Amino acid sequence: MSDDIRYNKTFDLQPGRVSEVAPGVRAIVANNPGPFTFKGTVSYIVGRGKVAIIDPGPDDDGHIASLLDAVRGETVTDIFVTHTHRDHSPAVPKIKAATGATVYAEGPHRPARPLHIGETARLDASNDMDFLPDVALADGEVVSGAGWTIEALTTPGHTANHMAYALKEADLIFSGDHVMAWSTSIVAPPDGAMSDYMASLEKLAGRSETVYLPGHGGPVREAPRFVQSYIRHRQGREDSILRRLAKGAADIPTLVRAIYIGLDPRLTGAAALSVLAHLEDLVARGVVATEGTPSIGGTYRLAEFPLPAA
Ligand SMILES: [Zn+2]
Repeated sequence: MSDDIRYNKTFDLQPGRVSEVAPGVRAIVANNPGPFTFKGTVSYIVGRGKVAIIDPGPDDDGHIASLLDAVRGETVTDIFVTHTHRDHSPAVPKIKAATGATVYAEGPHRPARPLHIGETARLDASNDMDFLPDVALADGEVVSGAGWTIEALTTPGHTANHMAYALKEADLIFSGDHVMAWSTSIVAPPDGAMSDYMASLEKLAGRSETVYLPGHGGPVREAPRFVQSYIRHRQGREDSILRRLAKGAADIPTLVRAIYIGLDPRLTGAAALSVLAHLEDLVARGVVATEGTPSIGGTYRLAEFPLPAA
């Protein structure tokens, strides 16, 4: 399928080096590069003197030491977590112990839907099941610090508890793994849900902030337009699934081969889960049919009598 997203893979940060990426915002990248994490998880420091940290990152002693080094002589008053994947939140206990900061997030890790009988959460190893915020934030809630104001934006989809944070003073959004400049986000059931993800994209598309600072890679520029291209990309993938099913019933490996050309083999499992995420959404909307609940091993066909579009 055609890729209509204008990715930007420019990224100049080196692990352990602090740099100012927006007015009043410093960034520091962890040394955990990989196919899902790009050059590594980016932690952000907001403000000067009395600061907040967005996403302390993985439980990596080198990264934790660099982060604490970067705020030496300052006070960390608040910690915000975008979501509970192991590359974002496990450094929280050590940073909190060192600073006494208050920890904010949407809530603990949870799947987007109940597990099916016999289904194991394939990506469970990537979840931080121990995380608990001090304060659970609701959508639109505002937290103010010394010279900064942060608005919580629930953005479920990548995970059920994903939260983005708008920084009022710099007119930007910390977008976590919801919207990133270098790649699309992974939406993998049961952690993720495509219907939630699309609704969360629509929600950001209606906002005015033009710069996003994501959990991986460099800034997203012209963000509202970029979010629209993300939406079109997912719609294109859905179209590809429907085009393939119009030729006859298919299982998920068949759909992955039909849709993803030149896929990094390390991402085959994630691609299968992404297709499952689309199929769950299409079955819920009555466009696609399968035996029982949609599952990774199921066979899918176009519904004979699709429901009228909502
Ligand atoms: Zn993630």
